[in-house]
Amino acid sequence: MANVEYREPTSIEEALALLGQYGDEAKIIAGGQSLLVMIRDGLIRPRVLVGLQGIPGLSTIQANGELRIGAMATHTAVERHPAVQQRWPLLAEAERAVSTLQIRNRGTLVGNVAHGFPTADPPAALIALGAQARIVGPGGERTLPIEEFFIGFMETALQPTELLAELRIPAQPARSGGAYLKYAMRPLDFSIVGVGARVTLAEDGTCAEARIGLNGAGATPLRARQAEAALHGARLTDEALAEAGRLAAAESDPVGDLDGSAEYKRKMVEVFVRRALRRAAQAAQG
Ligand SMILES: Cc1cc2nc3c(=O)[nH]c(=O)nc-3n(C[C@H](O)[C@H](O)[C@H](O)COP(=O)(O)OP(=O)(O)OC[C@H]3O[C@@H](n4cnc5c(N)ncnc54)[C@H](O)[C@@H]3O)c2cc1C
Repeated sequence: MANVEYREPTSIEEALALLGQYGDEAKIIAGGQSLLVMIRDGLIRPRVLVGLQGIPGLSTIQANGELRIGAMATHTAVERHPAVQQRWPLLAEAERAVSTLQIRNRGTLVGNVAHGFPTADPPAALIALGAQARIVGPGGERTLPIEEFFIGFMETALQPTELLAELRIPAQPARSGGAYLKYAMRPLDFSIVGVGARVTLAEDGTCAEARIGLNGAGATPLRARQAEAALHGARLTDEALAEAGRLAAAESDPVGDLDGSAEYKRKMVEVFVRRALRRAAQAAQG
């Protein structure tokens, strides 16, 4: 840490200029909850840290139709925002699942996403909610569906010269409900498997749309598209939910480790997808 230079730009343009100047020798620091652990453990050795706290407006959470969450909004601020609790409760639930209050008070939702950790909690909920990532860089800005933001193990679509400026989450359709379920050995651990599910019902009670995000089911957070497709137009019976669980397990590709074998985690995906869908469907019924 002794030779790390700390810079605190006061605008996005200035931050991008620093990233352009130092390339992959620079790292953005938001809440520092993951970055400082990586530096402490010698996994990365940045020469320059670019702090975002001096840039006005990045802690903003706006809910005018869609929800917009700025790069410095903490987990706690997102979780406790009245509009998030009322209109995007699935996100509030996933945010509450993140570690301790101390971590949530410092760590940011955008930093969590930019870190690209496959067992972090919010990504599964963001996939289920149809979130978009707004990225700014030297060539302007681009927006990606969140599931396309995650490319490989702790690898994202961000270039070293780019910054994740904002997450955007669309208004959820009428008759929608969601649930985030975390499976962990102890409540404060990272998830072994996490499932975010959102169900929208048609007027006749069948499933108009289901979206399912998975954490811990592969090298990146995943969207379970085959399970979603099987539910389209279906009645959400126990059999339909069980089949969706089996399909999600089949399209997941977990890594076996000290928490369990790949086969065990696939089974947990099956079980937790079924449970999360059931809870989401109940919430959609009001
Ligand atoms: C003990 C401990 C337990 C934890 N448990 C959990 C848990 O159970 N569930 C969970 O989901 N998370 C958990 N976390 C991680 C936590 O959610 C962090 O807050 C989050 O991963 C990173 O947010 P941050 O603001 O601290 O980012 P930082 O640590 O500052 O940055 C993380 C990475 O993202 C990059 N980055 C940050 N912001 C941007 C940006 N705007 N644009 C581009 N790159 C950016 C940084 O360069 C760095 O590479 C835990 C962390 C710790 C230390």
